[in-house]
Amino acid sequence: MNESFRIGRIAGVAVGCNWSVLVVFWLIAWSLAAEQFPDAHPGYSRTGYWVAGVVTAVVFFASLLAHELGHAVVARRLGMKVEGITLWLFGGVAKLGGDAATPQVEWRVGAVGPGVSLVAAGLFGAAAVGFDAVGMSELVVAIPAWLARINLILAVFNLVPAYPLDGGRVLRALLWQRHGDRVRATISAARAGRTFAYVLIGLGLAEFALGVSAGGLWFVFLGWFLLSAARAEEAGVTTNQLLDGVRVKDVMSADPVTAPASMTVAELLDGYILSHRFSAFPLIDDDGGLVGLLTLSRLKGLPAAERSTTPASRAACPISEVPTADPDEPVIHLLERIGTSPDGRALVLDEGRLVGIVSPTDISRVLQFEALRRPELTGRVTV
Ligand SMILES: [Zn+2]
Repeated sequence: MNESFRIGRIAGVAVGCNWSVLVVFWLIAWSLAAEQFPDAHPGYSRTGYWVAGVVTAVVFFASLLAHELGHAVVARRLGMKVEGITLWLFGGVAKLGGDAATPQVEWRVGAVGPGVSLVAAGLFGAAAVGFDAVGMSELVVAIPAWLARINLILAVFNLVPAYPLDGGRVLRALLWQRHGDRVRATISAARAGRTFAYVLIGLGLAEFALGVSAGGLWFVFLGWFLLSAARAEEAGVTTNQLLDGVRVKDVMSADPVTAPASMTVAELLDGYILSHRFSAFPLIDDDGGLVGLLTLSRLKGLPAAERSTTPASRAACPISEVPTADPDEPVIHLLERIGTSPDGRALVLDEGRLVGIVSPTDISRVLQFEALRRPELTGRVTV
């Protein structure tokens, strides 16, 4: 879920929203103002119900944010990198950079979110009792009462021991602590996550099919989201294990064919690219300096009429944006940089000299090879 707009920084953490939050906000405010509040507490004006509905929805998102801030602040205090918080369709996500260093860190970061929701549930419950005791209107009491219930549900749901839910992270930390094997712990927590996701999808489909409520579809989507997150985590640890100990120089295609940066795109297409059978060419200037990386996919965007006048360097990805790697660097470290680069390729430099290129094909070839060489790893993992 991408961030569509930025709200600001809270406690030093960047907070943003995906547009889907607006849909959820509207759904919550509408269902409270048009159905739940009038049904449970009749006799108020339409405006009264809408004010109560909107106020409740705003405070609900604030308590959701508090849950995510709990994760982010504790993670940062325990030395993890925090990239920010995004609120979206299924609540919030605290984006943390990298993995927890120890099970204790993982456990605390995972547990604090539901902890915050539990505390919020208690405070809202106390407010509801207090408001009622001093004789406030039924509709006003209904606001903290609803917030107490929803925060309790949020805490309990997130504590289900199924990755990527908070409870799944706590489960992973406990298994990791017990067996000392982070990979095995991750796979177990992710499998629990998959099972739980299937249960959610099944229940959601049944609810929808039986016509109980259209809300069943929401559970189907939520289940599907959890399923893909659990799968990605499982695949991620497998990849990390398979690539453990593999260096960039073991993976790269050595001594890549370069092309002169001064050539026009038309000149390159007339024979040069075809005769070399590659789809990416590092470009070098007259002094042998690297200028950029030209890929065939980049040429697709260039109109045919402009090929004879466009120098290759202008059609290429500038060298400052191409990820580079050291030959002795673990290939795992390069994966992240390659993943976010526009062309999916990295150049390998040895003391500034171009010695190789790494493409997605190189990575998948070594993954297949390592999977064949070490079947014991893939035997206990299904990707
Ligand atoms: Zn959480």
